[in-house]
Amino acid sequence: MICDIIRPNVGPEDSIIECEVCELSYSLEEYDILSKRHKLGYFYNEEIGIFCHECLFKIGNQLALDSGEDEYKVIVREGDKGYAMIFYKDGQS
Ligand SMILES: [Zn+2]
Repeated sequence: MICDIIRPNVGPEDSIIECEVCELSYSLEEYDILSKRHKLGYFYNEEIGIFCHECLFKIGNQLALDSGEDEYKVIVREGDKGYAMIFYKDGQS
């Protein structure tokens, strides 16, 4: 799976960003503060939509389980940079 990091500067500070999986929502202003402390992240994927970092871990673990492989790679992109998060089917990442 490939997903893109959503940065808090995507819109006006008082607009709301919401996870489409668990409905966790924050204003972009709050997201800005929390993301700088590495406490919150939102991501986007075409199939799933917008989702939070907690759901990213749940989804990654589930995909690892479903893949039947020992490892499953989720690529997180930001602009032209990207890094891989490896999920293992035993649930450790
Ligand atoms: Zn979520």
